[in-house]
Amino acid sequence: MRINKFLAEAGVASRRKADEMIQNGEVKVNGRIPSIGDDIDEFNDIVLVNGSRAVINTHFEYYMMNKPKGYICSVKDEKGRKTVMDLFPKELKTRIYPVGRLDYDTEGLLILTNDGEMTLRLTHPRNEVPKTYSVKIEGSINDKELSLLRAGVKIDGKITKRSNVKVIDKGRDFTKLSVTITEGRNRQVRKMFEAVGKNVSFLKRVKIGELKLTGLNRGEVRKLRQNEIEYL
Ligand code: URA
Repeated sequence: MRINKFLAEAGVASRRKADEMIQNGEVKVNGRIPSIGDDIDEFNDIVLVNGSRAVINTHFEYYMMNKPKGYICSVKDEKGRKTVMDLFPKELKTRIYPVGRLDYDTEGLLILTNDGEMTLRLTHPRNEVPKTYSVKIEGSINDKELSLLRAGVKIDGKITKRSNVKVIDKGRDFTKLSVTITEGRNRQVRKMFEAVGKNVSFLKRVKIGELKLTGLNRGEVRKLRQNEIEYL
């Protein structure tokens, strides 16, 4: 197998990024630095990336979680906060990791897997996988602000891509919206609303592509069904 394909399937990096890593000398095969385009024996060769072994899992597991707020999306937190892995039974904790991130205060649909290739596919910016959020903001929002959000607003110095923004419900002091974005920038939805002067008081991811958050209370986890895995 081509070494960059191996590294992509092991979830290390996209093939292009893997070539860069090979060129930078970050990869070793059986103790030697390989060249771009080399083939490896994926069953017997020992591949290290910055000193850590890269392996392709042959047994994949896929889970859906309804992430509650108050948990971070990583396997470990140096500040000692609760992580989404704390919501799994102990015996599963080592191998599975979250696909992309929801911030500490955001809840909803999270996929967890040991399938590195699927993780790259779902999170690579080039693929523009749509993610849909249920959003509640304080106060009201006018048509001009909605158009700005849809067309793109500047966050962290860069304009966001077009998004789909619909008002779902209006109360005296709140507005509920459905927002679909195709990027995955840090705290993107919160920052988009901040850019038009609005404060998000509730944020929940409800869909990734057409995969819906279903059958789970807050903090619960279930295996993905076969049709859901095939879709992803
Ligand atoms: N946008 C946010 O602001 N937070 C998330 O967790 C995801 C999208």
